[in-house]
Amino acid sequence: MDNYDTHICTQYGDHPAEHKGAVSPPIYQTSLFAFESFEAFTQAQTKERENYVYTRGVNPTTELLEMKLAKLERGEKCKCFGSGMGAISSVFFSLLESGDHVLFVNDIYGPTKQLITFFHKFNITYTTAYDDVESHIQPNTRVIYVESPGTMNMNVIHLESISALGKKYGIYTVIDNTWSTPLFQKPLTHGFDLSIHSLTKYIGGHSDVTGGAVIGSHALVDKIFEFGFQLNGSTLSPQDASLIIRGLRTLPIRMQQHQQNALMVIDYLKTKEEIAKIYHPSLLKVKEYPYIRHQMKGYSGVLSIELKEGGFENVAAFINSLTLFKIGVSWGGYESLVNSPIKPHNADELIKAGISTGLVRFSIGLESPHSLISDLENAFQSISLTKS
Ligand code: PLP
Repeated sequence: MDNYDTHICTQYGDHPAEHKGAVSPPIYQTSLFAFESFEAFTQAQTKERENYVYTRGVNPTTELLEMKLAKLERGEKCKCFGSGMGAISSVFFSLLESGDHVLFVNDIYGPTKQLITFFHKFNITYTTAYDDVESHIQPNTRVIYVESPGTMNMNVIHLESISALGKKYGIYTVIDNTWSTPLFQKPLTHGFDLSIHSLTKYIGGHSDVTGGAVIGSHALVDKIFEFGFQLNGSTLSPQDASLIIRGLRTLPIRMQQHQQNALMVIDYLKTKEEIAKIYHPSLLKVKEYPYIRHQMKGYSGVLSIELKEGGFENVAAFINSLTLFKIGVSWGGYESLVNSPIKPHNADELIKAGISTGLVRFSIGLESPHSLISDLENAFQSISLTKS
C-alpha cells in the first residue's frame, strides 16, 4: 500500500491543535453559519463554494473529507454528496445540454442508465460500447462514462485509450471508480476528467451510511458545485461525513484484507465443477489486458460466478444454503453479501441481455476466509444432496 495514501487516510488534514487537541475532528453539526456583521455576511455569500454560509454548500466536516478524497485521487478538488447517485446525477445535470449524447463504456450500474433514459425527455440520448469505442462517438457526444471494472462482469477497460479519445474529440471523460477505490486505481492520473465514488461501499466500509463524491479539476468541480450540487441538494450530512472519515482511517488495511480474502475464495471456487465461470479482474490474462497492472494496483472483493445450473429455483437453493453471506443489495462493507439478478420470471429477459440465469454476485467481506469457504462448501454440498 502506498505510504502517502495511508497517511492521507489516517492523519492528513486532521490538525488536533486547531480543535483543542481533539484527535478525532469535531462534527460541525450545523445547518448555517452566523456572521458578526452584515458586510461580512454579504461578502461570504458572493462565493458560497469557498465560505461557510449554509451546509447545503460548504461544511467544515464534509470539507475535511473532501480534502482527503481529492488528495487520494490526486485531483485538485472534491465535492461530496448524500449518495453515489447524488454525485452521478449532479455530474450529468451539470455537464449535459439538451441534444447531447452520452457514450457508456462497459456494463454500467442500472440506476445510472435509468437516469439517462429519464433524461430522454430533455432530448438527451445514450448508447453503450464494449469495444472499438471510437466508432461509437457521435458528433453530439458530450460525455464518455466508464465503469472499470464493471460490477457484474468485472471487465476492465483501458483507461488511457478512453482519456485519449476524450482529448481528441473534446469530450468529458468520467469514470465510476467505486469498485477499485482510489487506493487501487487513480483514473485522473490516467487522463480522466472526473472520478466518481459511491462512498456507501468500501470507503464508508461499515454499511451504516450513504454518500457520494466527485473529484476532478477546480474548474469542473466548481461547475458541478454550482449547478448539480447546490441546486440539486444531494447534501452529505456532517454526521455522515464524520462516519466516512472514520471509514477512511482503516481503508488501507481493509482493502488489503478484502483482496486477500477474495483471492483465497477464488482459489477455492476454481475447484468447484458446479461453476461455469468466475468473474474477477485478477483472473483476466495480462496478455489480453496488458494495461491492467499499469492502471490497477490491487483488487477488491466483489466477484461473480456463473452456476452451471441456473434459473430461479437453483440459484435460490444455493443462496438460501449460505449462512455467513447475508442476502442483500450493495457491497463493499465489512460483511460478506450475496445477490443475483435472477427473479422468478425474468429468465428470458436475462438471456436476451446476455446475462446468465445462474449469475451470483458476492461481496467478500472481512470474516475469516476459511469460514467463508466452509460456508460455500456447505452450500454446494446441500444443493448437490437436494438433486441426488
Ligand atoms: N455506482 C455503483 C457501481 C454502484 O454499485 C452503486 C450502488 O450500488 C452506485 C454507484 C450508487 O451509489 P449509492 O447507492 O451510494 O447511491
